This record gives sequence, structure tokens and C-alpha cells, in this order.
Amino acid sequence: QHYLARIERLDPALNSYISVTAEQALAAADQADARLRAGDAGPLTGIPIAHKDIFCTDGIKTSCGSRMLDNFIAPYDATVVERLRAAGCPTLGKTNMDEFAMGSSNETSFYGPVRNPWDTERVPGGSSGGSAAAVAAGLCAAATGTDTGGSIRQPAAFCGVTGLKPTYGRCSRWGMIAFASSLDQAGVLARSAADAALVLQAMAGFDERDSTSADAPVPDYGTTLESPIDGLKIGLPKEYFGEGLDAGVAASVEAAINEYEALGATVSEISLPNAPLSVPVYYVVAPAECSSNLARFDGVRYGHRCEAPADLEDLYKRSRAEGFGAEVKRRIMIGTYVLSAGYYDAYYLKAQQLRHLISDDFRRAFEQVDVILGPTTPSTAFALGAKTDDPVAMYLNDIYTIATNLAGLPGVSIPVAPAEGMPVGLQLIGDVFQEGRLLNIAHRLQ
Ligand code: GLN
Repeated sequence: QHYLARIERLDPALNSYISVTAEQALAAADQADARLRAGDAGPLTGIPIAHKDIFCTDGIKTSCGSRMLDNFIAPYDATVVERLRAAGCPTLGKTNMDEFAMGSSNETSFYGPVRNPWDTERVPGGSSGGSAAAVAAGLCAAATGTDTGGSIRQPAAFCGVTGLKPTYGRCSRWGMIAFASSLDQAGVLARSAADAALVLQAMAGFDERDSTSADAPVPDYGTTLESPIDGLKIGLPKEYFGEGLDAGVAASVEAAINEYEALGATVSEISLPNAPLSVPVYYVVAPAECSSNLARFDGVRYGHRCEAPADLEDLYKRSRAEGFGAEVKRRIMIGTYVLSAGYYDAYYLKAQQLRHLISDDFRRAFEQVDVILGPTTPSTAFALGAKTDDPVAMYLNDIYTIATNLAGLPGVSIPVAPAEGMPVGLQLIGDVFQEGRLLNIAHRLQ
């Protein structure tokens, strides 16, 4: 009731929810109460959360921020949703997001932009901007998100919350609407690393319904949260501290580095020489995969269908023209182009080769250091509308987050000292399946 009342009072100004499921949430809270009384409660029993509207939720609208799915009621729960429900979390609703998770500001949503709770004239980041804003404004205790190129970490940074993108395959993608399948990963936005650890614990683990989910044991993240970090070797990639990094963000990150040194960590400069290629590589690979994944929205099986189609061709064309927004169309066109005969070798194949080089950079770095540290974003949250006419400027927002997805690695963004009153995110990147270590290192600073 506390959260539902806050949503009613505060969300009209923020627009962080697409759907609020008050009745179901209260029913689930009653069930949680019964479990508590029966002495059968786990750590998340009765903790109200929200799900990004990219996760299928049984009987509840799942729009993916698109007109295309404005009428789509999912017939089943995504694995992540199912697991959090089983852990006893009431679902408050579904959070706003960039259309099909394509964007960095939440401005591509069919349901209108989300506003940053710190300054409502600014964006919350994207694509999990609704989840980040809802957590920051106290409209849920934690929220799920997805991160294909930065969509958990960048909005977490802009809204001053903790956002964890796990290793590719750590959480099941089953029931999570696909954008770029080789990059997409479910994760969590929460008020602290300790909270994120609890939620990840419930979400993570093998799922036979997702062939890319990792069949690896899930460690107990809670037991290592407090582990000491003296002797920890932190690497600072020089490519993440150069030109383009806002001075206020740099100062906050540097102050955090000093705190880590005071806690006994050692810091050294490293290089990820191919990191500057990650944005161009991503904008070939991600659109290629999206053009294929989004082919299923044809106006026939589900989603938007145009009025009175003249024939099948007209049905496809008009349903897609009406159902998708401009950014999604741009990506489908780029993706179709880079996969087409004659261009495949020059673009798609080349991008895949560079993706390997980017991964190799990280492999070499983790021979030298335990964790990589840098800013999450080059700047703090920007004004609504500031980058909507310039897709490339928008894409550059993810310059520090995208390489991690290309390499499949886990990353976490945690809030550090604000710059000019706006939150700043510090990013920690770990080797595969090092979520526990990342949460531990994040927790030590909180
Ligand atoms: N901002 C990036 C994009 O627009 C990443 C989005 C994401 O991680 N889903 O594709």
C-alpha cells in the first residue's frame, strides 16, 4: 500500500510505470503475509518490485514500450518474473522503457518519456529508464531491467541507483522480448549493492528453456558482500578517462578511487585498445540481430494489425509502419542492410571479428587486474530533447558500457558523489561470473 500510494501521488510527474497492477500486488502481499506468519518467509517475501515492460507477465500487458505490443497480453511469465514471484515479491507493475529497449534516454517509448526524479527536465537514461526512475523515487523497492549495451548501468548512473548487468547467460532470457540476442541480459536496479545481491540471487541460474543460459552454480552473493578488499587490484582503462569525459564526472570517479585505495586496493592504469571500436561494432551487430528478431511482428500472430488490409503485403507493410517508431525502423533498416548479400562481409563479418578483439582486450586485462573501474557514462543526465535529433550523439552515451556486452562480461554501476547536484555512476567490470565479487566491491563503497 505504501508503494501504491506513492505511485499514485508521484508517478504522474515521472511516467515511470506503463501499467500498475495494484490488485495483484495486494493479493501477493497478503500471500506473503501468510508465509511470514507461517514462518516460511525468505529474504524477499513481501518485497514489492517492478518489472521492465520487456518481460512477459502472465495475463498482464507486456508492451515493450511499443505501439506494436500495446494490445499484447502475455500468456506466460518470463523465467525471471516467475522466479521473483516464487521468492514472494509482489509485482507493483511494469515499467516504462525505450521502444524495444532501443535508446539511452527513454524518449523512444510509445508511452512518452520518463522524467528523472532528480530533475524532471532531464532524462532518466535508457532503456531501463522507468525501472531506474521508479527505484530512485521510491516507487518500488527494486526493479528488473535488461542491458544490451548499457540499458541497466546508464539509467542507474543517471538516477543515482545501483544497477547490475550480470554475465551473459547468468539469467534466463526466456520470456524476455528479444532485441539483440547475443547481447541481451536481464539484471537488477536497486537502492544498494546489498539489495541487488538479494534480487540477483532469486533471478539467476540455469533454465533449460534458454539454450544460452549458463549451467553453472549460483554462488551465495550475500556471504561475500562484506569480504575485505585489501590487495584488490583495480585497473583503470586509459581509454575510459580521456577526451569526452565530463570534468565533474571525472572528479567524482577519482574521489571514489581514492576511497578504494584507502580500503587497501591498489590501482594501476591498463589499456583496452579496441574499446573505442565498441560503439561502431555494436551498431552493426545489434541492429543486425534486431532486424531478425523483430521480423516476428508481422501483424498476423500478435501485436498491432492495420485496419482493412488490401492483401498480405499491405498487411505486413502497414502494420509494421504503424506499429514501430522511428528508432526501431532505423535499426531494422541498418540491420537488414549490413546482413544483405554484398555487404555482409564488409560490415557484419568485420564487426564480428572486431568483437573478438574487444573480448581479447578484456581477457588480457584480467591477467593483470581483478576488476576494471571507470565512469559509467561520460556525463550526468542530459536535458529532455537534447539528443533526440542526433542519433549518433545519443549512441555515444554508451561508450563506456557497450564493450562489456560485446564481451559478455558482468558490470555494475553504483552512485558516487554527485556533480552539480546530479548523480554520477561509477562502473565496475568483472571477469565472467564475478557478480559476487563486483557486488562485494560495490558494497564496500556504500
Ligand atoms: N542505448 C543502447 C541502444 O540504444 C543500449 C540499449 C540497451 O542496452 N538495451 O541500443
